[in-house]
Amino acid sequence: MQPEITYTPSLKQRTTLRLGGTAIAEVLLSTDSHFAQLSDLLKKLGGRPFVLGRGSNILANDGELPLVLLRLQCTDKPTLLDADESCALISVSGDVPLPVLLSYAAEQGLGGLEGLAGIPGTLGGAVAMNAGSFGSEIGNFLTEVEFYAPETGLFRKSKHEINPMYRNFSFSGQESAAWHIICRATLKLPRKDPEAVRAQMQANFQKKQATQPLSAASAGCAFKNPSPEFPAGLLLERCGFKGKKLGGMMFSPLHANFLVNQGNGTSAQAMELLNAAKNTVKKNFGIDLELEVKTIP
Ligand SMILES: Cc1cc2nc3c(=O)[nH]c(=O)nc-3n(C[C@H](O)[C@H](O)[C@H](O)COP(=O)(O)OP(=O)(O)OC[C@H]3O[C@@H](n4cnc5c(N)ncnc54)[C@H](O)[C@@H]3O)c2cc1C
Repeated sequence: MQPEITYTPSLKQRTTLRLGGTAIAEVLLSTDSHFAQLSDLLKKLGGRPFVLGRGSNILANDGELPLVLLRLQCTDKPTLLDADESCALISVSGDVPLPVLLSYAAEQGLGGLEGLAGIPGTLGGAVAMNAGSFGSEIGNFLTEVEFYAPETGLFRKSKHEINPMYRNFSFSGQESAAWHIICRATLKLPRKDPEAVRAQMQANFQKKQATQPLSAASAGCAFKNPSPEFPAGLLLERCGFKGKKLGGMMFSPLHANFLVNQGNGTSAQAMELLNAAKNTVKKNFGIDLELEVKTIP
């Protein structure tokens, strides 16, 4: 069976920032046979492959983009592989939304992921970005990751062979493939009281809700924090960017590092506002802010 293909998919409809034009096609991958057909299919479709999860860390350009979006659609739930009295190993498909993974962890009484409450991405996107907050990062809990790369097909790497970094990861001691899909990961999580896990997740979520515009159209933090003493939000606030608008785009009045689409924003406005912020921070503080959000040119 051929994978499902949608032509001219809208990035605006597939990203939480609600920006972006259309790609050439979107290919939904759910079986090994789909991966086996992928190289030929990409040649036929043309354009650059781009792996998309929930689109919660993406700023896509306006217009017609020469891209083929690759998305996992496995729809299987997290599963328990092994457990003892202190911890459990679980297997999670790359398309599983983090909120589903966190609910599963709370039900099973598995801790470690409480800091990820409120992050809207998929497991694959979280591994790719080494997503984290409140001092907890997904990379700390990985024991094995299954990838697909066009050169090698499906392959596995143990935790010693992958190197999670600040909002990024690489393969230890070797060049990463030109592109790859994170298909599945095995996580080792410590056993905890289910109620304590749930309560901690709720407390973290409430803290975020009070300080971040979680229900607005955003891609989370626009810039990486250059250091713990100088978080990007503080630098942007000191440079007068909190609440600053350009057309339909605005730095949130609640948290200056969240760029928000007020409904009618464009990618061009978003990029102009981000560049203005970066230049002003450089001028005033001598600090080079680096984008956390992934731009699709
Ligand atoms: C309201 C809000 C709050 C947020 N809070 C946080 C936070 O506290 N901490 C944090 O770290 N992030 C946060 N984010 C950002 C975002 O949710 C995370 O980076 C998330 O992990 C991205 O997952 P995704 O599935 O949406 O990936 P996408 O945004 O679709 O993609 C992000 C990157 O990952 C790659 N990718 C996605 N899926 C795969 C895959 N299966 N295989 C290979 N590569 C893949 C893409 O190619 C792209 O480079 C927040 C975002 C929002 C909107």
